[in-house]
Amino acid sequence: MSVENLKDMNDLVSLSKRRGFIFQSSEIYGGLGSCWDYGPLGVELKNNMKETWWKSMTYRDDVDGVDASILMHPTTWKASGHVDNFTDPLVDCKQCKARFRADKVDIAAPCPSCGTKNSFTEPRLFNLMFQTFMGPVQDTASVVYLRPETAQGIFVNFLNVQSTMRRKLPFGIAQIGKAFRNEITPGNFIFRTREFEQMEMQYFIKPGTQKEFMEEWKQIRYQWHLDNGLRPEKLRFHPHGPGELAHYADAAMDIEYEFPIGWGEMEGIHSRTDFDLKQHQEFSGKNLNYVDQIDGNKKYLPYVIETSVGCDRSLLAVMCDAYRLENKGTEEERIVMKFKPHLAPIKVAVLPLVKKPEIDEPAYKLLKDLQKNFKCEYDTSGSIGKRYRRQDEIGTPFCVTFDFDTLNDNAVTVRDRDTMKQERVSIDQLKAYIQSKM
Ligand code: ATP
Repeated sequence: MSVENLKDMNDLVSLSKRRGFIFQSSEIYGGLGSCWDYGPLGVELKNNMKETWWKSMTYRDDVDGVDASILMHPTTWKASGHVDNFTDPLVDCKQCKARFRADKVDIAAPCPSCGTKNSFTEPRLFNLMFQTFMGPVQDTASVVYLRPETAQGIFVNFLNVQSTMRRKLPFGIAQIGKAFRNEITPGNFIFRTREFEQMEMQYFIKPGTQKEFMEEWKQIRYQWHLDNGLRPEKLRFHPHGPGELAHYADAAMDIEYEFPIGWGEMEGIHSRTDFDLKQHQEFSGKNLNYVDQIDGNKKYLPYVIETSVGCDRSLLAVMCDAYRLENKGTEEERIVMKFKPHLAPIKVAVLPLVKKPEIDEPAYKLLKDLQKNFKCEYDTSGSIGKRYRRQDEIGTPFCVTFDFDTLNDNAVTVRDRDTMKQERVSIDQLKAYIQSKM
């Protein structure tokens, strides 16, 4: 059997559209640059990603969750450094007006868009935060920002969570939510968009312990990506050198995945010191100190280890990794999305062999029963082979075929997506059988 991995991102873009994973936003109006809509299967996959992250990060005895507002007091972003520092250097091509990040394009070379030489403007700093206005008056006093990261919603709630949950260090606060960045050069499908979802956790620790917790979280987070099925040879750590460190960090490490477009960051793990809490304490005038009862009631600002993963980017990695083209050019050719069952948008497809009431009706009853536990699809149209191919392409791990024998033996054929092996399973045992394979 021949197997090819995903080589060209366009193949995934077209599968995503064809099968209802991801559509261009506002497509009927010609689309909106770098904005994407998750379709019926995409939203299932995304919800599953979020659920696995949420469970692994908050179903522990030392991490609580929050869901903070996207709009925050504007001083938050002065304190965090985003108003002054969240900038990229921007250059324009004077000829074709295309815009590039000065750090991502060779300014001495011809414009990659129109080929004109020496056509770039001087680099100027461009703030990536989206601005809007709160209330009916559009003046400087009413400016608010769409949050460029979810982290600050956690820092400003540090004391609320610590006191209401009676937390002692070390403990963490986790959040999933939308973030917005007016990226100069978005692209590569959902790799870099202007609206995306982050899954972040800030772990508050005693100053001086950051090295050991950084190491611990590095391993935990790497394992999460492996558990999502990503192949180890396509994952690596990228430690930040001194020149790459963000203004808030004393150490940082990315987890990178080898996409068809090359290696790219999926997650950042940052040792943020007490930078953020210190800034918020100063700008708000509120005392954010932690009182360490174990250490003689000493008062101090905790240090922070942050894990920050893009939901959309890790979903893209999962899709790229799951994609297989088997037996290209032969009768047995198929595209199969080998999602781990816990991530697969549809877990079970119920396929009545023929569209006759004596099969269709009990098969539909079986579907209703399975739907109590699993996200299922019911498909009666086309040959069974075609129906299997469709389920392969959307990554459904189990196809359950209801045939004439079922009426006598009360058993169905379960086909495994990856091995294509078929097994006869009694309907009474079906739920337990599927659960055991998940
Ligand atoms: P990059 O260098 O790619 O711009 P970053 O270092 O600015 O990313 P962080 O601020 O550390 O990224 O954000 C954490 C995670 O959020 C990233 O690892 C990525 O998965 C995700 N992310 C950041 N920017 C975007 C974006 N524009 N589109 C999609 N996901 C993003």
